[in-house]
Amino acid sequence: MSMIHRYIFVVGGVMSGVGKGVTTASIGKILQSRGFTVTAIKIDPYVNVDAGTMNPLEHGEVFVTNDGDETDQDMGNYERFLNVELTSMNYMTTGRVYQTVIERERNLGYKGKCVQVVPHIPEEVIARIKKATDHAKADFTVVEIGGTVGEYENILFLEAARMMHLADPKNVMFILVSYLPIPKHLGEMKTKPTQHATRTLNSAGIHPDFIVCRGEQYMDKPRREKLSVFCNVKPNDVISAPDVSSIYHIPAVFEKQGFSDEMLKKFGLKPKGSDLRKWNTMAGIQDKAEKHVKIAVVGKYFSTGDYTLSDSYISVIEALKHAAWANKAKIQLEWINSEEFETDPKKLKRLSEYDGILVPGGFGTRGIEGVISTVRYCREKQIPYFGICYGMQLAVVEFARTVLGKTSAHTVEVDEETVDPIIHVNPVQMKNIRENRYGGTMRLGAYDCDLKAGTIARKAYGENSISERHRHRYEFNNDYKEAMEKKGLIVSGVNPQSGLVEIVELPDHPFFVGVQFHPEFHSRPLKPHPLFKAFIKASLQKS
Ligand code: GLN
Repeated sequence: MSMIHRYIFVVGGVMSGVGKGVTTASIGKILQSRGFTVTAIKIDPYVNVDAGTMNPLEHGEVFVTNDGDETDQDMGNYERFLNVELTSMNYMTTGRVYQTVIERERNLGYKGKCVQVVPHIPEEVIARIKKATDHAKADFTVVEIGGTVGEYENILFLEAARMMHLADPKNVMFILVSYLPIPKHLGEMKTKPTQHATRTLNSAGIHPDFIVCRGEQYMDKPRREKLSVFCNVKPNDVISAPDVSSIYHIPAVFEKQGFSDEMLKKFGLKPKGSDLRKWNTMAGIQDKAEKHVKIAVVGKYFSTGDYTLSDSYISVIEALKHAAWANKAKIQLEWINSEEFETDPKKLKRLSEYDGILVPGGFGTRGIEGVISTVRYCREKQIPYFGICYGMQLAVVEFARTVLGKTSAHTVEVDEETVDPIIHVNPVQMKNIRENRYGGTMRLGAYDCDLKAGTIARKAYGENSISERHRHRYEFNNDYKEAMEKKGLIVSGVNPQSGLVEIVELPDHPFFVGVQFHPEFHSRPLKPHPLFKAFIKASLQKS
């Protein structure tokens, strides 16, 4: 007998940025906790084929899958909440869908038919949703449609969802994630925008089965009843999602309102016992922890106008939290723009106030000398340092400059003509750069890494060989490896197939580790990443 797949479409109303991704992930989590297999799909309405070419300040972090897709940061939430590894099948954009349809048309795949926006585009969307579901053998697929209802951009995706519901109404459900503002001058939670959002969704031929109401506070009874009547859903199907101290509390908030029971009932399924105990304990650690660790993240993708956007590094932040909680500590995170050290090197002293410094991935030339000074300060002052991707590359540049005395050493990303290209680019990447082929051409996805015995990395992982996800164009230049090693740099991880350097570290330092890959993508709340855990442990010893 073929397996029954059920689909839950999550759409947004009123405004963006209310946590639709975390809501989607939490809906998946509560169903998974009832013993079902769950997968999740993110639909981005952008014309970009993937998120790789988008500015992280505008779009947030680019989340990389094991199979090397550059996707939306919400995919990271799904992986973290569901503890699964998603693939490029779980992500689509308008550009990607059109690209496939156009390629198929060019190959006579439509056998002479007139290829039209409707039905061919929604049909391709549906085929993709089903393929990802089959691949995951999922009982439930939660599909998040990006943007908000009423926008022009996501209409074809709503159309695909409507068509799936028409074909199989018992196994397709809709959830509207809305927002209930409390205007300061009124001091009252308002439901009208949600009523309008529901109407707009109705005009796309879709009626929500549930409305998840985000807001600063819990929704009270009168408002629940009002929304029920005006939006035509039962009071129990209006779910309150107030702001909470940690996103990991949201599954428990939903379950207190019987959300998964109601969903299962609608699908005609018998609710089974739920197991969220370990999860809820993890979510509560930060509210109770007595230990405290203070970490600074030094980089450049932080501010836009007057606002600080930490979304560009969301997986790094979450990985730090997971690792702190595993060490039974609460984390205090601060952002430092590396450019401030360029204008005023005296400010470097500020770094001593922290228990550990992390330099995350990045691109381009802005703020780079500030990062290099940060590395030097941490190396010389024995402050735990964790460098990720660009943070590793710049750590070896600093080592070459100061310890090897190669004062103009650099990465060719910043100085193409440097006499000491410590970080260089291989011929394949050179060709990509020369031909302006930037989309999807970096070293992407999971690669193996062999670890050297007796190193911090080998001890942290407890394994000889690991696999981690990459996203970079430049590499450590092996011509300098021997000279660096002679001066004390330890190359503790190497890709066995290519010989590329993946991890460097320094002995005689509380913690100085640089990794060419992005370990943050593998961290899970209940399975913190070993290197993050080791970094926090070392940082706690400093404090
Ligand atoms: N800019 C560097 C490179 O492309 C590092 C990339 C990163 O930090 N993700 O190699």
